[in-house]
Amino acid sequence: MRCHIVPPHMLERIAGGAGDPALRDRARRTLALSSAARSERRTLLVTPPSPNEDFVPNRTIRDAGNREELPGKAVRAEGAPATGDKVVDQSYDWLGATFDFFEAAYRRNSIDGAGLPLISTVHYGDRYDNAFWNGEQMVYGDGDGTLFTEFTGPLDVTGHELTHGITQYTANLEYYSQPGALNESVSDVFGSLIKQWHLGQTADQADWLIGQGLLAEGVNGVALRSMKEPGTAYDDPQLGKDPQPGHMDHYVETYRDNGGVHINSGIPNHAFYLAATAIGGNAWEKAGRVWYDTLTGGTLKTDTDFKGFAAATLETAARLYGADGAETSAVRQAWTGVGVSP
Ligand SMILES: [Zn+2]
Repeated sequence: MRCHIVPPHMLERIAGGAGDPALRDRARRTLALSSAARSERRTLLVTPPSPNEDFVPNRTIRDAGNREELPGKAVRAEGAPATGDKVVDQSYDWLGATFDFFEAAYRRNSIDGAGLPLISTVHYGDRYDNAFWNGEQMVYGDGDGTLFTEFTGPLDVTGHELTHGITQYTANLEYYSQPGALNESVSDVFGSLIKQWHLGQTADQADWLIGQGLLAEGVNGVALRSMKEPGTAYDDPQLGKDPQPGHMDHYVETYRDNGGVHINSGIPNHAFYLAATAIGGNAWEKAGRVWYDTLTGGTLKTDTDFKGFAAATLETAARLYGADGAETSAVRQAWTGVGVSP
């Protein structure tokens, strides 16, 4: 399964719009490539945790040379000096920051918890407008430069995609409907937390945006998604309007986008934001710990829905902070605040 950072509703809008014909054609091509990839079926071999306790990243950056072929030529190995190619070096740095975050915050050794090597392919396709985790590695396009900048730019894009890998190795939430929206949401949660940790920001200081810096100059928008105010990240003639709800009252029933996985993720995203800001301080320490332990603790099912996930976070919070703890009540209020009663 491939998980893309730019959702189909944005690409469909570009493809069907009245903008630059070259951009329309590339958006159509990106959509065709994405749906071809969606029909891939792959059996994931979940590696059991090994006794490897080294906690050393093992990164390889590859260059697709603007072709749509994986994995591309290896251009930077672990420990090798910067290459001078901005996107190669950005990708290397952000894989490292993501690895360091999961080690520092949750003592997790890479994506699989057992030191999985981290592989990125950059310069994928011709001005390709997306980045994705394909079940085994990261892939980044350069962006068309008119609507999107390089996909290696924002740290939270890399964090989002690598978290899809962690979900794959843990709760393995299916990529459809509410479990799919939860899968998307936990990628946004940890994508944002990695950025907050890297910048040393508290919950109050964070922007809670996903993909800030990814939209090119002249586009009317600040990011792909906002956890603080779902539905407000962009409103642009070429990209359309951010369709995310932040409350169950505005839940979107749709068969598109795998049942709205990039749309309804706004609801659990906002619940996390509410919990983290109510608790205060560094969001990765308490709210992040609750979500991380819930995701990786083995109690979720692949088809867990919002209500089930909310109940699981409450159980985790009660275990960590006590049933009457302030953190537990913040988590409960966060879910009721978005219309989910655990
Ligand atoms: Zn995603």
